[in-house]
This record gives sequence, C-alpha cells and structure tokens, in this order.
Amino acid sequence: MFIGHFAVALAAKRATPRTSLGWLFAACQLSDLIWPILLLAGVESAHIEPGNTATTPLAFDHYPWSHSLLMTIVWGIVLGGIHLGLRGDRRAAVVLAAVAVSHWVLDWISHRPDLPLTPWSNARVGLGFWNSVVATVAVEGLLFAAGVWLYSRATTPRDGTGRVAWVSLVLFLIVIYLANIFGPPPNNMTAVAVSALAIWVLVWWASWADEHRAVRSSMSGPVA
Ligand SMILES: [Zn+2]
Repeated sequence: MFIGHFAVALAAKRATPRTSLGWLFAACQLSDLIWPILLLAGVESAHIEPGNTATTPLAFDHYPWSHSLLMTIVWGIVLGGIHLGLRGDRRAAVVLAAVAVSHWVLDWISHRPDLPLTPWSNARVGLGFWNSVVATVAVEGLLFAAGVWLYSRATTPRDGTGRVAWVSLVLFLIVIYLANIFGPPPNNMTAVAVSALAIWVLVWWASWADEHRAVRSSMSGPVA
C-alpha cells in the first residue's frame, strides 16, 4: 500500500489537531522511512521481479527490522516517545504510535505473505490484496480521497502557501502512486531505495503545508 498509508495520517489530524501533519506522515510511513536506509546499508533486502504481485514488481525478501509487526510497534513507541519528550502531549504520542502500527496492518492486507511477525520468527503473513490492481487502486483511492476530505475539512489555509503546498502535495502523491503502479519496473534496487528516500521529503512537505494551515475552531478537539 502507498497512498492508503497517508489516508490514515490525514484522518488522524482530527484525533490530534495540534500535531503537525509532518509528524503524522512520519508515523504512517515510519516503516518505509527506515526501509530504504536498511536496504542501502545491506541489512534488509528485496529484488525486482515483475509480476511478483500485479501491483508491484518488488519482492520483499528480508525486512524484519523495518516491517515486522513487533518492530513496527517498537518504532511507533519510539516515535511517540520522541514526540512526548519534545511536546509533552500524551494523546499525540498515543495517536502517533497507533498510526505507525497502522502501516503494518495496511501492508498485511496488501502484501503477499512476506511480512514477518518478529525479526526472529519464520512466519510470514499477508493477505495479498496487491494481486488485484483494480481492487488496490479502488480501495486505496477511496481511502486517500476520504483522508484528503477529512484533513481539508479539519484545517483551513492561513495564506496562499497553505493552499498551494497542500494541493500540490495531494497531486504529487497521486502522480507518484500512479507512476509506481503503471510505470515501467525500476532498473535496480539501489534506484528503488534512493527513490524511496523521497518519503522523507514528503514528511517535510506535509509539515510545511500544515504550518500554513490553521485548525478550524470546530475541530480544535480535546486539549492534551
Ligand atoms: Zn511498508
């Protein structure tokens, strides 16, 4: 799953309106922020195999540190803990950890059985939703549209940047999503890992857009 993950972050803005969308983006894609670094370091591995599933040519051979259920929970707690240390907002910390774990749940639905439960077990799980491009695009598209709608309703632009940065972020996500699914397979795993590092830029982009948007007063929500 790709843009489906961002839908969770966009929807979570309502649960913790004072938390920057940048933090929520970091949470929803935490496993995928860590993954390219571990790939480049040679700690985790994947290879290109067109047709691995209908939706992606990537075969995820070994990614227990970024993508096992146990480690996803650990990373979620670490991110929530860092935010708690910086901002002292317990509710936000819990939401961030939960959003991080949602990455594993959505990957479990979409991946074929290649997701480990812990770094030390051989069990691999995955429901294989990616075997259908139509179902994947329909479901992820709906999730993402719902997320965009919820975030747009929860916030309002403070200035022109708040509108442009947000709209361009949404369009950019849609374009790279479609290019990933319908474009040619990548040349090599280094290119995949380097382009996956772009998710770090998306985190920055989301926090930039969010800084220029105000939470609507009806959404200011519970005070932490
Ligand atoms: Zn992932």
